[in-house]
Formats: sequence, structure tokens, C-alpha cells
Amino acid sequence: MFDSLSERLEGAFKTLKGESKLTELNIAQSVKEIRRALVAADVNYKIAKEFTDTVKDKALGQENVLNAVKPGQLMVKIVNDELVDLMGGTVTDIDIKGKPAVILIAGLQGSGKTTFSGKLAYHLKGNRRKSPLLVACDVYRPAAINQLSVIGEQINVPVYKEMDNQNPVEIALKGIAHAQAHGHDVVIVDTAGRLSIDEKMMEEISNVKEAIQPNETLFVVDAMTGQDAVNTAKSFNDRINYDGVVLTKLDGDTRGGAALSIKYTVGKPIKFVSMGEKMETLDVFHPDRMASRILG
Ligand code: GDP
Repeated sequence: MFDSLSERLEGAFKTLKGESKLTELNIAQSVKEIRRALVAADVNYKIAKEFTDTVKDKALGQENVLNAVKPGQLMVKIVNDELVDLMGGTVTDIDIKGKPAVILIAGLQGSGKTTFSGKLAYHLKGNRRKSPLLVACDVYRPAAINQLSVIGEQINVPVYKEMDNQNPVEIALKGIAHAQAHGHDVVIVDTAGRLSIDEKMMEEISNVKEAIQPNETLFVVDAMTGQDAVNTAKSFNDRINYDGVVLTKLDGDTRGGAALSIKYTVGKPIKFVSMGEKMETLDVFHPDRMASRILG
């Protein structure tokens, strides 16, 4: 994951190899490389600049200090702390209180919404001892409803669907009533996405959100799309004010920009990362673990 970013950062720390202490000059060289690494990973220039300005200030605080720790290691520690901070600092849990708790899933078509809905149900069932119900609200694509049904069967979680109903608000409300009647304590509502942002889709998701008042609205986005992922995340948030982000396809050859920039740009935390098509490949997002992975 983020191999190219990791390599470039390693290169930036190597510029400090053989140095006995941090100096204005070697800090400047190293920081320049760090900024290049971030920009190459698709982090917006403004964020990369602000990030490296902070790193520089912190490193200058250690300037000329003869330390037991080598300058390179000191820089790794400073960058690590700033990466954790940039990605939101701590883990942000989802709200699953309520009878039932309702979780609304939104995002563009192909982002991995339906797959994630299944993974979340699997996660809540296995790790949180919940009894989830999946609700299929993608009324435009029968294939999407079938896909959710197949996933539901695979993980042994029931799916509420109405093949002939074209009204997602109605299906969502009836799904929640069904969950109440059948003792499910979490309802996951999978909605329709489109290939790009359009007004009708936003209005539909807003209407569903308004009607069902979910505990949690999660926005799913394909991490492979880099800066586009960040822009889409911003547009969705401006319109539906979601609670958290799910980054998908982190198993692919992604550059890291989305993971690093979303919290800063949108102000909403990443809550899950999805890394494959199998149901088990979902992780709760830990900013510190992600920073460690990036720094190797
Ligand atoms: P939706 O249109 O947003 O519901 O997207 P889908 O859940 O149908 O996912 C679109 C495609 O991406 C499918 O082929 C999924 O198998 C695939 N997919 C979803 N999540 C991941 C992931 O984390 N990694 C990879 N490699 N593929 C994924």
C-alpha cells in the first residue's frame, strides 16, 4: 500500500544519513524531498506545504541538539506524528446505538458501496455481535439489488428488497420497520449511485437521509481516484453532511493522496478502509497504524 510514497519518504530521510545533528540546511533538504513525495502521492500542494512547514518548524526546534537519536530517526518521528494528525489523530467509531441503529451508505456508482455494505454487516455481526439487516435501495439497477442479495446469502445476513418499488424512501422506511419487527439491531441502507455527481442523485440521498434520520451516514469513495476522490468527498459532504468516509480499493496501486487529504479538506474522519473484494478485507481506520505502514 502506498509503496511509491513510502519509497520517496525513505529517500527524504536518507538525505540525513551520516549527519550528526539536524541543521537548517539538512532540514531544508529533507523537507523539500518530503514535500515532493507528498505531491507525487497526489496530496494537494497547499496541504503538502502546510504539512512540511510544520515538520520544518518542529525539526528546527531540534536544530543543533546532539541527540542519542539520529537525525534521520528524529525526522521519521516528526513526520509520523504529523501524518497521524493529518489523518485525524484517533480512531472514530461508528454510532451503532439504537433499536435499530440505522446506517446510510452513499457514494458514486462503482465506488464499492454494495461490497462495503456487505463487509460492514459481516464486521458488525462477527466483531460487534450485532444482528444486521441489509436494505437494497438502488432502485435503478436490478443487478445491484441482486448483487446485495448474493452478498447477503454469502455472509448469512438477510436482505430487505422490493424489486417492483421505485421509491427508495419508502423501501428504506419499510426496511427499518421490518428490522424492528424481526429483532435486527442494525440496518444498513445501500443507496443508488451514479457515475458522476448529479443533482437528482444528491436529492434522492438527501430525501432518504431526511426520512430515515440515520445514526450514521457513511460516504464510500474509491481511493484509486486520487484528488477526484477528495473533490467528490467534498461535494457529497456539502450536500448531505455525512459522518465518516470509507476508502475502498486500498489493495490496488493507490498513491495515498485520498487517505492523507480527506480529513483535512472535508473535516470528516475516515472510519473504514476496504482492501479487496472478499468480505473479510475491511479494517477500522487507525491513523497511527496507517502512518506506520506508510513509514514502513
Ligand atoms: P457500487 O456500485 O458502489 O455498489 O460498487 P460495488 O460494490 O459494486 O463495487 C464495484 C467493483 O469494485 C466491484 O467489482 C467490486 O468487487 C470492486 N470492489 C469493491 N471494493 C473493493 C476493494 O476494496 N478492493 C478491490 N480491489 N475491489 C473492490
